Amino acid sequence: VVTLSKDYFVESIKKIAEMIEKERNYLTKLDSDIGDGDHGINLSIGFREVTKRLSELNENTEDISSFLKKVGMTLLGKVGGASGPLYGSFFMKMGTDVKGKEVVTFEEFIKMIDNGVAAVEMRGKAQVGDKTMIDSLRPGADYLKESDPNGRELEIFKEFIEVLKQGAKNTDPLIAKKGRSLRLGERAIGHRDPGAESSYLIFKAFYESFQD
Ligand code: ADP
Ligand code: MG
Ligand code: MG
Repeated sequence: VVTLSKDYFVESIKKIAEMIEKERNYLTKLDSDIGDGDHGINLSIGFREVTKRLSELNENTEDISSFLKKVGMTLLGKVGGASGPLYGSFFMKMGTDVKGKEVVTFEEFIKMIDNGVAAVEMRGKAQVGDKTMIDSLRPGADYLKESDPNGRELEIFKEFIEVLKQGAKNTDPLIAKKGRSLRLGERAIGHRDPGAESSYLIFKAFYESFQD
């Protein structure tokens, strides 16, 4: 059975923070096309704070659930804009079903992702097709839930990333029904949703740390 330790999650958060710095301008550019041009900046502010406090958050928590909860609370407290509370809720709720565990199975990891996505849905009330991060996250979580990962964890993880990537691409032709780009109407057509793209990139970082 493939298991994931608390260290895996700490390493993944580090990888996400590095990725955000690399993609900061790209994500901000996407947001300047259909939003207010701060998505990369918002995530960078949040994950820089998480990075600064990472050893403290790790040392002061016993299990995966409370570590991720603290990461989420840090994002929620630091990031203004829509994405702070949404990604904040994601990480805060990821560990709901695995409280007290220092190690989780891949099956449990799948459930954690689904719980995180459900928290974003609950908070933002967006559905697939609304041109938000849910356009990548929901199909990704569903793909994992429907898969049989036993012995094929790495493969399934890779396919999950492809589903997220495709979900982000699927936002290109859409008119937004939620968030700031709502007011653009048809002018949003032809532009990728920045949050759908950052969701894909965040899980790509989780995948890369799984490969290591
Ligand atoms: P803001 O729009 O406040 O400047 P960001 O630019 O950081 O915040 O984040 C914008 C992203 O947040 C959008 O690209 C979209 O994916 C996501 N988003 C906005 N509103 C919602 C919502 N109600 N549900 C899910 N995602 C949303
Ligand atoms: Mg913005
Ligand atoms: Mg903003």
